[in-house]
Amino acid sequence: MPQIDDKLAPIYEQVVRRNAGEPEFHQAVREVLESLGRVVAKRPDYLEDALIERLCEPERQIIFRVPWTDDKGQVQINRGFRVQFSSAMGPYKGGLRFHPSVNVGIIKFLGFEQIFKNALTGLPIGGGKGGSDFDPKGRSDGEVMRFCQSFMTELYRHLGEYTDVPAGDIGVGGREIGYMFGQYKRLTNRYEAGVLTGKGLFYGGSLARTEATGYGNTYFTRAMLQTGGEDFDGKTTVVSGSGNVAIYTIEKVQSYGGKVIACSDSSGYIVDENGLDLDLIKEIKEVRRGRIGEYVRLKGQGYFVKSGEGSIWDVPCQVAMPSATQNELTGKDAAKLVKNGVQAVGEGANMPSTPEAIRTFQQAGVKFGPGKAANAGGVATSALEMQQNASRDRWSFEQTEARLATIMRDIHDSCYETAEEFGAPGDYVIGANIAGFIRVAEPMRAFGVI
Ligand code: NDP
Repeated sequence: MPQIDDKLAPIYEQVVRRNAGEPEFHQAVREVLESLGRVVAKRPDYLEDALIERLCEPERQIIFRVPWTDDKGQVQINRGFRVQFSSAMGPYKGGLRFHPSVNVGIIKFLGFEQIFKNALTGLPIGGGKGGSDFDPKGRSDGEVMRFCQSFMTELYRHLGEYTDVPAGDIGVGGREIGYMFGQYKRLTNRYEAGVLTGKGLFYGGSLARTEATGYGNTYFTRAMLQTGGEDFDGKTTVVSGSGNVAIYTIEKVQSYGGKVIACSDSSGYIVDENGLDLDLIKEIKEVRRGRIGEYVRLKGQGYFVKSGEGSIWDVPCQVAMPSATQNELTGKDAAKLVKNGVQAVGEGANMPSTPEAIRTFQQAGVKFGPGKAANAGGVATSALEMQQNASRDRWSFEQTEARLATIMRDIHDSCYETAEEFGAPGDYVIGANIAGFIRVAEPMRAFGVI
């Protein structure tokens, strides 16, 4: 197991002590600290003024009650969160997640990762994350609207285009962003388009934002493959999830000639050896808001494996792109993928691979792209949306996608080169952590102890 440098170990111990019962947050901090030993060996000045300790402590954490009335007239209570982690690079920026599993530790791990991811984009955005334990599944549009309005009625006072700019994440798509933007506008009496991203195209949204995370991960993974003279063409690919990130990953991989044969949702996974029919998946997930198993009945081919009766990572593939949720790919799954000949893994989700899984991939020489680099295309395009809002401009799809492609290529190269510079060639985890850290550490030093 990789070790934390002696000089950094007390920082990790303090994080664990002060954030009891938040294992995902500990995991995210540990992974970064494991990489930073190489940095402080060269640059001990980064240990001064408790810079790394400050980086591990959110600037502000907001937890609030969200009361709303369901369709039966009953009052429901959820809990809302916003963790404003770091504003060293710009306004806090990061999505909102609505899922019953949400708690403060999950939001903190996501907010912490977001700092480095946002820094890697090279754009002026800080790191934050938020959400609620509200479950939109099975709720009517009216219920979702009333929830979103109540959520924003508290959150709006903490937001602003120069302060904090949320976006979507699991359970928060165009519908939810629309309701929240409407309520923000009503409460503030300001048409402040740059306060939320992932907006609809009719009121300040950016073309290519919906596609950006999945497309971006595909560009990143392709760049990793290309370092070994390979490409997606003809490669069997498995993508977990069937939400926003998964759908647009499948689309882009298919456009490069990759054969995507499996995807999933929380009810299980489907396999279609002929290659997935993406139009049908979009119809099931985006229009009907249905379950992925319906594919087999509607298509008349392939098979469905219920959740708990197998893992999507049992399906042999050359490229794996986990795009559902954290810790969905275990050490055991990774061993299976390696045995089946996987060549590259690009993380569309945040922290989907456990530490054991990452170790297994790296020891086997599999090219591994960590989420904080590989899925940065979403937030990068959100920053492009903010640019368009600030200049009252609107770019074409092609222009926006071209910027996204360049940003993803730059992130890849920066991780690759940083890993080499710090004595870990081919290790994108170390490359991403160090390159992201240095970009945030420099402004933090310039600002003094704040
Ligand atoms: P969506 O809500 O659109 O889709 C999530 C998908 O993952 C659904 O298929 C969902 O299944 C499945 N899923 C979620 N939680 C679980 C779970 N606990 N167990 C099994 N399956 C689960 O979310 P996104 O596609 O936006 O996000 C997916 C991942 O990508 C997340 O980790 C997110 O943080 C990350 N990400 C998203 C970005 C974006 O721009 N949207 C940007 C960067 C990262 P079901 O429908 O059954 O719940």
